[in-house]
Amino acid sequence: MAANKTARVAFVLKRWYQVGRTEALCASRCHIGGRPEAALSTRAEWEAVVGLEIHAQVHSASKLFSSAAVTFLAPPNSCVALFDAALPGTMPVLNRRCVEAVVLTGLALGCRINRRSYFDRKHYFYADMPAGYQITQQRVPVAERGVLRVPGEWHGRERNLGITCVQLEQDSGKSLHDAAEGLTLVDLNRAGVGLMEVVTEPELTSGAEAAAAVQELQLILRTLGTCQGIMAEGHLRVDANVSIRKPGQPLGVRTEVKNLNSLRWLSRAVDFEIRRQIGLLETGGQIVNETRSFDVKLGFMPEPNLPSLVLMGDDERPMNQRQNRQGLVSVSALRALLPELPASRRSRLIRNHDLRPDLVTTLVKEDGLMEYFEEVIEVGKQDPKIVINWVMNDLLGVLNECGLSVSQSPIKPRVLAELINLQIDGIISSSVAKKVFTMMWKDNEVRSPVKIVAESGWSIICDPVQLEAACIDVIAKHPKQVELVRSGHAKVLNKFVGQVQKLLDGRGDPAQVKRILENKLLPQTGDGHCS
Ligand code: ADP
Ligand code: MG
Repeated sequence: MAANKTARVAFVLKRWYQVGRTEALCASRCHIGGRPEAALSTRAEWEAVVGLEIHAQVHSASKLFSSAAVTFLAPPNSCVALFDAALPGTMPVLNRRCVEAVVLTGLALGCRINRRSYFDRKHYFYADMPAGYQITQQRVPVAERGVLRVPGEWHGRERNLGITCVQLEQDSGKSLHDAAEGLTLVDLNRAGVGLMEVVTEPELTSGAEAAAAVQELQLILRTLGTCQGIMAEGHLRVDANVSIRKPGQPLGVRTEVKNLNSLRWLSRAVDFEIRRQIGLLETGGQIVNETRSFDVKLGFMPEPNLPSLVLMGDDERPMNQRQNRQGLVSVSALRALLPELPASRRSRLIRNHDLRPDLVTTLVKEDGLMEYFEEVIEVGKQDPKIVINWVMNDLLGVLNECGLSVSQSPIKPRVLAELINLQIDGIISSSVAKKVFTMMWKDNEVRSPVKIVAESGWSIICDPVQLEAACIDVIAKHPKQVELVRSGHAKVLNKFVGQVQKLLDGRGDPAQVKRILENKLLPQTGDGHCS
């Protein structure tokens, strides 16, 4: 290993791993802070241009070119094959699972899949890259020219973001610079893990848009199962390229903010960089191209130890014995495995149930929520608009509060459907329905909604005599409000409805209660006392 004057490089088997390191470094380097949104909106004459390079770790059991395990939080240097440590004489063996993952991802992004792609070496020296180069796909990647459909921020209007390419490459190891000890520690567990690099066209215009695009990609990757997509665990890391220009002008000089591993920091870092560039240009400064594209291109050479990557094309069948024996990854077989993707899910839900786009976006984004919603509708045969309210407000609210995932919900779709049916059939009022919901949530030994309602005596009260008695009681206790209603403040009537329901534990038939109160309080002449 080449000597490094400023830091001694040591392989240690001690515990040093810490999540969030990159984020902290990035934050301090960029001095992110304040409220860039405010500044951005006042500089309408500038247009920001943002393109992303997103590195997604392939969700595979072993690494891209070795059989070492891919395990999060394993003890340092415990998942390292000889090849990953670049021992002389070791050779790369391509992991089929990683090829399938990148092809699936390319297909999901509507890319053209190249039947033949190539591996290249990108040379640079860094302690966490012991071979002195990274194997990547610089000349011809697996997938090119696709589209990411990103849901709009407010009303779900989708935008298409061009995908330049998706390519397969190795992840690097990790270095930890321990200033106190004057050491650089290296962990090679991550070295050689398969990465899919998704490169977007420079078509985004703000931090929020960049974050929305990455979030959608994250959702797609999870749906496919090709990447776990947990940013805090480093499965997804983003480099953002940022430039600004006046409308109609050619692209400006760009800078690159690297290794962003949370959506919030991505959004902030991009907006910060836009603001910094505007400030610089407006005060007569110049943007310095901080990417090393010139050097980087010089540092590439074809990888001599790997043949080109050949896939079986979309409409091909294995032509001969040899092709069969090679066990080529088949594009059409993978295409057939594609699950329903988030964008199609959203349009299907909007089409079938006439739901609000922003609700649908959440429904699809939360893992398992769409399936939950659809099962409630399927079992209960109910109005989707009523079900979506329960699922979004009541269920999701309490799940988030308790930090639970949808699959951990103690209330299963079947049970929620039963509860909603009780409400729709007029057996319980909506306020009782909420009480039953809360009770079931707390109850571990789950009683069915019907049982809870029966045992608690909570079914709706329809007996007109009982309802009228309650109304009379409330009216007698609130003479001032009675005056208000009679003098034309018809809205005060709702307060009476509330009081009566309180008296009846929320069990009064709401329509009847309202009718009785109207009969008693509103003038019966019908000549215009509406407020
Ligand atoms: P390199 O080879 O140096 O990585 P690429 O041409 O591959 O450069 O572009 C990398 C990323 O930078 C892409 O996501 C692309 O959209 C983005 N990009 C290129 N030019 C600009 C620009 N002027 N402003 C913002 N982003 C840009
Ligand atoms: Mg690049």
